[in-house]
Amino acid sequence: MLNNQSPSRIIRVYLATPLRRGFDYLLPAPMAVQPGVRVWVPFGNGKRVGVVGEVDVAPQVALDKLKPIDSVIDSAPVLPAALNKLVRWAADYYLHSPGDAWHQAMPVLLRQGANASGEELYWQLKAGATSSGIAKNAKKQLAAICCLEQGELSDNELAGKDFDRATLRTLADKGLVTFETRQHQGQPFWTQPVTVQPGPRPNPEQAVAITAINNAQGFAPFLLEGVTGSGKTEVYLSAMSQILKAGQQVLVLVPEISLTPQTLRRFQKRFNVPMALLHSGLTDNERLRVWRQARDGDLGIVIGTRSAIFTPLARPGLIIVDEEHDASFKQQEGFRYHGRDLAVVRAQLEKVPLVLGSATPALESLANCDAGKYQKLTLSRRAGNASQVRFDLIDVKHQPLKAGMSPPVLAAIKAHLARGEQVLVFLNRRGFSPTLLCHECGWIADCQRCSAYPTVHKGRQRLICHHCGSDRPLPQQCPSCGSTQLVGVGLGTEQLENELSALFPDYKAVRIDRDATRRKGSLESALDGIRQGQYQLLIGTQMLAKGHHFPDVTLVVLMDVDGALYSADFRAAERLAQLVVQVAGRAGRADKPGRLLLQSHHPEHPLLSQLLTNGYGAFAEEALLERRQTYLPPFSAQALFRCDALKAEDAQSLLEAIGQLLQQSAPQGGWVLGPLPAPLERRAGKYRFQLWVQYQDKKALRQWLAPVLSHLENEPPHRRANWTLDLDPIDSA
Ligand code: ADP
Ligand code: ZN
Ligand code: ZN
Repeated sequence: MLNNQSPSRIIRVYLATPLRRGFDYLLPAPMAVQPGVRVWVPFGNGKRVGVVGEVDVAPQVALDKLKPIDSVIDSAPVLPAALNKLVRWAADYYLHSPGDAWHQAMPVLLRQGANASGEELYWQLKAGATSSGIAKNAKKQLAAICCLEQGELSDNELAGKDFDRATLRTLADKGLVTFETRQHQGQPFWTQPVTVQPGPRPNPEQAVAITAINNAQGFAPFLLEGVTGSGKTEVYLSAMSQILKAGQQVLVLVPEISLTPQTLRRFQKRFNVPMALLHSGLTDNERLRVWRQARDGDLGIVIGTRSAIFTPLARPGLIIVDEEHDASFKQQEGFRYHGRDLAVVRAQLEKVPLVLGSATPALESLANCDAGKYQKLTLSRRAGNASQVRFDLIDVKHQPLKAGMSPPVLAAIKAHLARGEQVLVFLNRRGFSPTLLCHECGWIADCQRCSAYPTVHKGRQRLICHHCGSDRPLPQQCPSCGSTQLVGVGLGTEQLENELSALFPDYKAVRIDRDATRRKGSLESALDGIRQGQYQLLIGTQMLAKGHHFPDVTLVVLMDVDGALYSADFRAAERLAQLVVQVAGRAGRADKPGRLLLQSHHPEHPLLSQLLTNGYGAFAEEALLERRQTYLPPFSAQALFRCDALKAEDAQSLLEAIGQLLQQSAPQGGWVLGPLPAPLERRAGKYRFQLWVQYQDKKALRQWLAPVLSHLENEPPHRRANWTLDLDPIDSA
């Protein structure tokens, strides 16, 4: 209860819930907070960590309903000001719960209330202390002693344990446990003078790019376009060198975690500053340590994948997004932000230059150059004097296929192998066969939980659904007619490896896909083996198309491009074009020109010929023209509602209700399409539907959506289905 003399203030706290609003609490008298600090608050039946958004607000509920917060965690805002603004901007832009956005932007331990300052409390068992005096039913105390017997424990390691800080306090009061505060163990502060190893002398185009970046004042976005091997990384390194020498930090985003070690090694050869990788293999403690070091300015360079955009930096100087077109920068669940797009906003807030690099820029980024928002820097030739790759389209219509390959392709493979060169075969379908069929009665194995067919994995003798992960033993007999004539239909990488090994028995094959590289370190050792020439035939999925350089590969075969040419997804053509150029970029070097063969049933397709004759730039220009004429992004803004439920009608009716709400408030020219079944209509036992919303203006689209979202939150039409919203969706799955 609040009485008139109460000095309590009212604060609005943001919590990791899906709700797009803050929750009001009382701040009891001696406690003090400011926006951006974390607090422990009672919520439901438990306690949660929240971030204070506003102080001294007019309460949203009756005063006597407000509860006091439990405690204040931080003495200063947990995120630096610019980062705090970025998170608020992102929650607002993506119409996402601000509390969840804040949580996603912090390392796990900070979400759980760990100390951000760098001081940690360590707990130890007193010498000779045992659990003998503890009551049998004091389970938490027994667990704590048992745990401390293994060694000391820091406060940050308490999360997930069967006991908490209060337990340790009690044990300390009993004289069984001691504690002390220590400063976190960081690398020595970055005080050494920065030394830079010299790199190759820049060619004229590189020199133009480097000068432009070096001369940038404040926020300045650049799109660095150049084929693989054209020396983009050298441009990054030169630009970084000036920033580091000025004592500032560089944040580098990369799409794939498997690429970070190779990027790191290259940076380490050039610079002596402390640098760190943020990747999924780090423990929560290591992640928090890197976060603190970056925040305190102890790191010169931080390299990470999409979520690294939320790394605090004491003295930011430059942000780089490598392979900026890559779809992995978009978070596909929960807080659906785009790491590259947030990098642009972050650079703006930090007032620093930004370099987006790619051989195949996203059409969005090219449109931003056309609109004068980004400055385009082009590297048109491969650096040094590596030659360009030659493209050939192979018409596979009416051709006899062996291992899915036409005679000209097999002949080319043979010739390249005979010259002692490496061949890369690219097939974006892992497993042995995409379907299992009975030759006698036509029965086809299906997934019980998805509208999809499970893939045959012969090595593991299992049928695995690539959509829901469910798996079962490979049947020996047809469940419908009892026949043993079960055959795999279609070609996966596993089968391709077997068949190519049989066709070219004198050469060693290696497969790189998610199955073959499951074991820790196996990807690294396969890549090393390729570099050292242990393997001649490389077979792989998408994994092989990204970032890795294979200078001894002189022939690349793309097995199947027709799927992407005839897709319902309007971005499929752009992705195919990017894939073709990226794969081509893996091959060849100065003395060994590369060749790329594409197998298609539609070699006359205008997109393919545009790409192969005139290159990615010409393709992109044409594709952008088409998007403009059809009002598709980037010439309009889209939002996608997704809905799933155990019963199809529940998902559908919820989207119908959402559609009606949208129609009622639709601005002139606002466009609502759906509900439509998702491309994969049923997944993991749930039916999935979608509703597309499109409008010419991004801001106006959000203004249209926002009231509909509050309506859905406050008065949901029904609760039998889940809905999510994806702004600027890049994937229609
Ligand atoms: P990208 O990042 O565009 O793929 P890199 O920067 O990795 O290109 O350059 C490809 C190769 O060419 C590297 O081995 C690099 O050391 C070399 N290289 C880059 N720029 C030059 C240059 N100006 N002179 C000579 N070699 C260069
Ligand atoms: Zn059968
Ligand atoms: Zn499934």
